[in-house]
Amino acid sequence: MLDTGTLPRAAAQQGTEHFDVLIVGAGISGVGGAYHLSHQCPGTSFVVLETQESFGGTWITHKYPGIRSDSDLYTFGYRFKPWTTAPIATAAEILKYMGRVIDENDLGPHIRYRHRIDAAAWSSETNFWTIDATNIATGEPVRITTNFLWMCQGYYRHSEGYTPQWDGMETFKGTIVHPQTWPTDLDYAGKNVVVIGSGATAATLIPAMAEDVGHVTMLQRSPTYFRTGRNAVEIADELRALAIDETWIHEIVRRKILHDQSVFTGRAFSEPETVKRELLGAVRSYLGPDYDVDTHFTPRYRPWRQRIAFIPDGDLFQGIRTGKASVVTDEIERFVETGILLKSGKQLDADIIVTATGFNLNVLGDIDFVIDGRPLNFADTVTYRGMMFTGIPNMVWVFGYFRASWTLRADLVGDFVCRLLNHMKQKRAKRVTPSLRPEDADMPLLPWIDPENFNPGYLMRGMHLLPKRGDKKEWQHTQDYWNEKDEFPAIDLDGPEFVYG
Ligand SMILES: Cc1cc2nc3c(=O)[nH]c(=O)nc-3n(C[C@H](O)[C@H](O)[C@H](O)COP(=O)(O)OP(=O)(O)OC[C@H]3O[C@@H](n4cnc5c(N)ncnc54)[C@H](O)[C@@H]3O)c2cc1C
Repeated sequence: MLDTGTLPRAAAQQGTEHFDVLIVGAGISGVGGAYHLSHQCPGTSFVVLETQESFGGTWITHKYPGIRSDSDLYTFGYRFKPWTTAPIATAAEILKYMGRVIDENDLGPHIRYRHRIDAAAWSSETNFWTIDATNIATGEPVRITTNFLWMCQGYYRHSEGYTPQWDGMETFKGTIVHPQTWPTDLDYAGKNVVVIGSGATAATLIPAMAEDVGHVTMLQRSPTYFRTGRNAVEIADELRALAIDETWIHEIVRRKILHDQSVFTGRAFSEPETVKRELLGAVRSYLGPDYDVDTHFTPRYRPWRQRIAFIPDGDLFQGIRTGKASVVTDEIERFVETGILLKSGKQLDADIIVTATGFNLNVLGDIDFVIDGRPLNFADTVTYRGMMFTGIPNMVWVFGYFRASWTLRADLVGDFVCRLLNHMKQKRAKRVTPSLRPEDADMPLLPWIDPENFNPGYLMRGMHLLPKRGDKKEWQHTQDYWNEKDEFPAIDLDGPEFVYG
């Protein structure tokens, strides 16, 4: 409960609703935020506004065949709600889990669906944000004021995926589909399908479609690393057989997975060649000695520079072994009437072309931000630990991890926000704005993330839109769960980087 005494009478008189906190988005981060607020800041009024017709974010947007997580649900699930089945989960299973979190904690009444936020204006006079949204069901404008904005809008535009423009696309006589806007009535039975891309989405789609299609080809410019294994966690199954409480199993399995991931990530940096050999060895064991793993599954970069998708039970490779799926590593010259002409001169015929080519980075939910009358250029700010931004008062953005499950960070940021809100209440502070300290004056300002460290396409295309990073950990999204889990709870909220008003 923040001190909302500054709310001017005019706003109240006009019937503008006011909340202590407004959460943008009802994906895994927004629902988690609502949970943390209701448990750690009792009495705080809050609302969640969500454009879509239901909760889930990523897991309701994507409806392509086989849609599933690529990291385990023991760590992609919340810290506070045990995951009790196989680690790699379908979107439907994730939605069911999130639905339970909403019901068990009575979060439903706080969420307003089909509400798209268009603009957010901060006033240092009133110390609150004015949010202009649209009720999509009625088309009516909705205005809400709030003391604190909790941005859980994710990182990509939900309405449309990224499709590069290739010459001749308009001449192709078949159907072009992006997985993010998959037509649920698309009939691909017996059809010849080409999937452009080699990331987690392509690797999920191909085995899911393989049984029904005539043939499916994964067309990639360059290969990607994959990890394979059983869709099971041995220690979880053993503990379950001993009738151990699920909350214990959840915690133990999380620790085990996080420990193993930490070792793996460390090895990817310290002995990349060995890790590479192991990853490729696993692929070879599925595809056999005669398969050209060098051309189709040996990336040019060292392991972990891009996210490594997990392929449960090697299903992608099994599709290739049966001959229903194949991989072509080549570049697109142009689209033709019957398919795609490749730079090698080879042609791939297709009835359907799926462009699994990624996302459009979406900074701050396509919301027009104004701070005290001045339009906000997010790229002019410096990030405070990848969650707050210099010069932007009372706002936090949940941006998860690339190499570990997103939700690990959503929980850590949740604890931080609640601690900050409780601290402000205690101090009777109405605003908090991150600011560079005197010792940061000459700090070099760098792009949001070091492309040498991590460089997926959507980030490279949109880096100029993102806030800057400094060379000290306070001014970076370090992507390091293993340090942040200890550092975040110890952040001194009265440190010089927080300016209260
Ligand atoms: C296919 C796919 C699979 C993935 N698998 C994994 C995985 O296995 N593990 C992992 O760690 N990460 C994975 N990710 C990354 C994933 O996006 C995040 O982990 C996580 O789901 C993001 O959750 P979020 O709630 O922060 O954002 P999102 O899931 O993106 O949800 C944001 C919500 O905010 C809403 N919103 C946005 N702007 C506005 C606005 N202006 N007004 C109102 N509402 C708005 C959107 O409609 C959306 O519902 C995957 C991503 C994709 C696309």
